[in-house]
Amino acid sequence: MSTIADNLSTLADRIRSAAQAAGRDPGQVRLLAVSKTKPAAAIREVYAAGVRDVGENYLQEALAKQLELTDLPLTWHFIGPIQSNKTRAIAEHFDWVHSVDRLKIAQRLSEQRPAGLPALNVCVQVNVSGEASKSGCNPDELPALAQAIAALPHLKLRGLMAIPEPTDDPAAQAAAFARVRQLQDSLNLGLDTLSMGMSHDLEAAIAQGATWVRIGTALFGARDYGQA
Ligand SMILES: *Cc1c(COP(=O)(O)O)cnc(C)c1O
Repeated sequence: MSTIADNLSTLADRIRSAAQAAGRDPGQVRLLAVSKTKPAAAIREVYAAGVRDVGENYLQEALAKQLELTDLPLTWHFIGPIQSNKTRAIAEHFDWVHSVDRLKIAQRLSEQRPAGLPALNVCVQVNVSGEASKSGCNPDELPALAQAIAALPHLKLRGLMAIPEPTDDPAAQAAAFARVRQLQDSLNLGLDTLSMGMSHDLEAAIAQGATWVRIGTALFGARDYGQA
């Protein structure tokens, strides 16, 4: 087996065990392959091993890979910080956006979503680590932001995304992910998605209800250049 196929099978085991330990159906937890810095050929490899969902952080890099992979029926997720001048291309070329953290960006994505495509699936990124993170909306601002996004015509608000401050302490991991789930519950908007958990903390995220785990390093190996 190739390293990537091997990694994928190890990940599938980790996801299954974590879901079972939490009394959850492993089928409720989906793997998003985070391919930033990795070539299109690596995405072909995970596709061949059964992966259908790909996450990218940088628009130009993502568009270049999409052009090389038009023959594959992949679902593309944008997961990086979003500048206003990038919203049109994101609205045109992605199926999901996990990293919406302000209304202006959501409004632009909705306005710029091409007619004829289904509503763009979005998650609101919430900052549960205070000053340790610059990205994500403040939990205080979340209810109003989520309500406003839910009302936009060409977006479908699916849930929340978070990147808690990295820590090896399982209790701290659990507390951060539980907070995301509580914030989601308190919105009462019938949302079905929690995008949380990465290579080092997917078990804690799954225990707290993650429905997408976003995995880069544990699938593709260390990143190819010095990008976060
Ligand atoms: C890079 C990245 C990931 C994947 O991180 P790993 O630790 O390599 O699994 C997940 N989510 C976001 C938003 C990322 O930028």
